[in-house]
Amino acid sequence: MTTQSKGTALITGASTGIGAVYAHRLAKRGYDLILVARNRDRLRDMASRLTAETGRTIEAIAADLNDKADLARVEEVLRSDASITLLVNNAGVGGTAPLLGSDIDKMEQMINLNVVALTRLTYAVVPGLVARGGGAIINIASIVAVAPEILNGVYGGSKAFVLAFSQSLKHELADKNINIQAVMPGATATDFWGIAGTPVEHLPTEIVMSAEDMVDAALAGFDQGELATIPALPDYAQWQAYESARQAMMPNLSRTKPADRYHVGPAA
Ligand code: NAP
Repeated sequence: MTTQSKGTALITGASTGIGAVYAHRLAKRGYDLILVARNRDRLRDMASRLTAETGRTIEAIAADLNDKADLARVEEVLRSDASITLLVNNAGVGGTAPLLGSDIDKMEQMINLNVVALTRLTYAVVPGLVARGGGAIINIASIVAVAPEILNGVYGGSKAFVLAFSQSLKHELADKNINIQAVMPGATATDFWGIAGTPVEHLPTEIVMSAEDMVDAALAGFDQGELATIPALPDYAQWQAYESARQAMMPNLSRTKPADRYHVGPAA
C-alpha cells in the first residue's frame, strides 16, 4: 500500500493535537516524516505506530523550540536534509487571559515559539527548497490573526505575524515553485485550550471543530492552492472581499502629503 514518496515533511508540534493529525495524514499521502516536539516518548510511540501503518520512514527529534540550542539543531536538519520538501510550522501556544491577567515572561515565550522559531525554521528551509526547485511551507496561524479581540492579544499578534509573513513569503517566492499556506483554524478540540487557560470543554460545542476535520479541510485547501485557509468559514467570498479591500488600499498607503482629513499644511 506504500504510495510513491513525496519527499520528507518536517512537522513541528507533532506529538499531539493538530500536528499529530498532520503526521498521520501526510504519512498516508506518501511523505516520510521528521516529527519535532519536546515529548520524546510520545514522538517515538507515534513514529513506530505510523511506520507500522504506512510503511513510511519516520524520524523523531525531541527538541524544545524555545531553547536556542535545540532550535539550532532543527534548523540544521532543515538546512542539510535534501529530502525535505515540506515544512509544517505547527508548534505553538496560546493564552486566553487579557494583558492584566498575563505574565510578561510567558508572553515572551509565546512570541519566541509562535514567531521567532517559526521564522528561523522558515529561513533555514527556504534556500534548500529553492535550490532543489520547489517545495511547500504550511504555517499554522489562527482566526485570531484577523480577530485579535477574541483571545489574549499577544497570541493574536503572534498569529497576525504568521499570516503577514505567509503573505509576504508567497509574494517573495512567487517564481520559486514554493507553495505557501497559512491555515487559520477556529477553536479546535486539542490540549491547546487547557494549556492556554480555558479547557476546551468550557467552550460552546457549536464553535469547536475536531482536529481531524480541521486538518482534512486545511489539506483540501492546500490542494486547491489557497494561501489562506479558514476551515470553518462557510462563505470564502467573505475572505476574498477582505483581501480585495487590503489590496485596493495598497497604492494609497504611502504619499508625499498627509490626507486632507488631518488638515496639515498651509491653510487654504
Ligand atoms: P496542542 O495540542 O497543545 O499541541 C501543541 C504541540 O506543540 C504539541 O505537539 C507540543 O508538544 C508542541 N510544543 C509546544 N511547545 C513546544 C516547544 N516549546 N517546543 C517544541 N514543541 C512544542 O495544540 P494544537 O491545538 O494542536 O496547536 C497546534 C497549532 O495550532 C498551534 O500553533 C496553535 O496556535 C494553532 N491553533 C490551535 C487552535 C485550537 O483551537 N486548538 C486554533 C487555532 C490555531 P510537546 O508538549 O511534546 O512539546
